[in-house]
Amino acid sequence: MKGAYVLILQLPLDLSVTIGSLGTHVLSKGTWLYVGSAMGNGSTSLERRVRRHFLSRKNIHWHIDYLLSETAFLQAAIIVESPSRAECKIAEALEKNMECIPGPKGFGSSDCTNHCISHVFQCPKIERPQETLMKVLKELEFEPQITCDGTIPLRPPKQQVLNGKDCVVADKEEI
Ligand SMILES: [Zn+2]
Repeated sequence: MKGAYVLILQLPLDLSVTIGSLGTHVLSKGTWLYVGSAMGNGSTSLERRVRRHFLSRKNIHWHIDYLLSETAFLQAAIIVESPSRAECKIAEALEKNMECIPGPKGFGSSDCTNHCISHVFQCPKIERPQETLMKVLKELEFEPQITCDGTIPLRPPKQQVLNGKDCVVADKEEI
C-alpha cells in the first residue's frame, strides 16, 4: 500500500530534544501531529512504515524517531491510501483547518516540493485529535483509517468509524 499517514503524539511534559542537524528544540507539552508518506513496496510500504513507528526499539533514522525515542507517546496513526504523495496537502490542512502550528523548521520536510516549514505540528486547540483528524481527512476526500498499535490491515470497512472512541492513551513502555 502507498500513501500518507498522520501520527498523533502526546507529549506529557515540555520536551527539549536534539533533532540531528536541526539542532535542539523545546517542544511544548500536549498534542503534536506528524505527517509522513511511504510510497514504496515491501519494506518501504505504508504498512511497514507505520508499523515501524510503533516499535519501541529501533535505530534513529527519521526526524520523528528522535521524538519517539524520548517521551513522546504515539497515541494513534491515521493512514490514507494514495497513489501520489499526499503528505504536503495534509500538512497544509492541519495548519489551515485545525489551527496547528508548524514545529521545528525542516522537520520531516527537507524534501518537500512545496516548501513546507515543517511536517510536525503542535495542535493546542484540538481536544479530540483523532476525531478531528478523521473529519479533516474525509473533507480532503481521503478514506482515512486509524490504527492504535500499527496493525494494518485495519478493521473491516463498516467498523472503521471511530464511534467517538479514541485509542487509549497508556504510559509508554520502558525502553
Ligand atoms: Zn511538505
